[in-house]
Amino acid sequence: MTLDEILARIVEGAKRTLQADAATLRLLDEEGTRLNVEATAGALPLFRRCRAVGVERSPLDEEALSGGRPTIATDARIDPRALGVPKSCRSVLCVPLIHQGTPLGTLHVYATGSKRFGEEDAALLVPLAELGAAAIAATRALTSLRNLEASRTRFIQVATHELRSPVAVAQSLVRGVLKGYAGELTERQVEPLQRISRRLEFLERLVNDLLDLAAGRAPELAEEERAVAVNSSVGRAVLLIQPRAEEKEVALTLRPCCEELVVWGTEEGLDRIFVNLVDNAVKYTPPSGSVTVSLRRAKEEIWVRITDTGIGIPEEALPHLFEEFYRAPNAKALDAAGTGLGLTIVKELVDRYGGHIEVESEAGRGSTFSVAFPVYNLPEVA
Ligand code: ADP
Repeated sequence: MTLDEILARIVEGAKRTLQADAATLRLLDEEGTRLNVEATAGALPLFRRCRAVGVERSPLDEEALSGGRPTIATDARIDPRALGVPKSCRSVLCVPLIHQGTPLGTLHVYATGSKRFGEEDAALLVPLAELGAAAIAATRALTSLRNLEASRTRFIQVATHELRSPVAVAQSLVRGVLKGYAGELTERQVEPLQRISRRLEFLERLVNDLLDLAAGRAPELAEEERAVAVNSSVGRAVLLIQPRAEEKEVALTLRPCCEELVVWGTEEGLDRIFVNLVDNAVKYTPPSGSVTVSLRRAKEEIWVRITDTGIGIPEEALPHLFEEFYRAPNAKALDAAGTGLGLTIVKELVDRYGGHIEVESEAGRGSTFSVAFPVYNLPEVA
């Protein structure tokens, strides 16, 4: 719910609770010196939205805010504190909106007829004002958290984007030098250059994973979702990782499904999911091990299962696998570059497409990652 919707509910609730003719809600500005009318309820065209009033020019508000309790102008026409209250109003009740000692604004209810507000009315309105103040504070906190998250995502995007090409250039130069393009190298030169190359490989992965993560969290950058074939996406991932598996002497096998399996998502997102999972399986499986990728449909779900005979995951690491930057101790001990971001990206994408992911593993024996997506039934063609 947005702040405007919350404010609208509070004023509506106040007006109804006291059977008043109108209600307004004013919020203090950042300096806490001016009150802006942010929401109104009732048929009276009394107040324009955003009309700002200095607190010192509104004695009813000033008294309510400084005393932390309601103020009442029983007869507004003769009460000197009812400054700025429209002539048509006979009685005004003003309740402060205070959350954890911080004044946020005030809630006013107005009566035009014979009704006069009293202490019982104030007692009825106080709980609503307390609840309202808590809701306003919580919504503001949530908004600033979201803004913070959005600027963090933007920062990661800009920083990693700028880093990507210099890192790639440096890596290709170092590889060239290692291949002898700049002349023959001595043994003493090869070793530090290989170390630099490994560091750069890690940096490349980190930059790519951070960009993927940031892209996934910036909906405006995402490709539009549509019907996507899982079979092709899984096939592409296996093809892409196959050379790496062969190099490591890990047998990578695909057990396809003859039925076309379709989900609602994006091709880019699905590819990221399967490339990450198959890449991990190969990365964490020692030579002469095997990785099997299988696809099947079970009722209204599509299951993709990636099983390996690798190092496995210690039981105590299982609850942390999808946390940002988490790497299990047995993975860290390997000489395999990793950032701990791949599974975070996978989980966020799988959730976005309405799926779920399960992990079964035993340290030293291997792991199975299973991803399930709801089947998307293509419309029948007439
Ligand atoms: P990383 O870049 O470290 O591979 P991920 O987020 O992809 O990061 O995975 C997080 C951690 O989960 C890994 O560091 C590793 O400890 C564990 N893990 C993921 N897949 C496997 C697997 N197939 N076998 C063993 N451990 C795995």
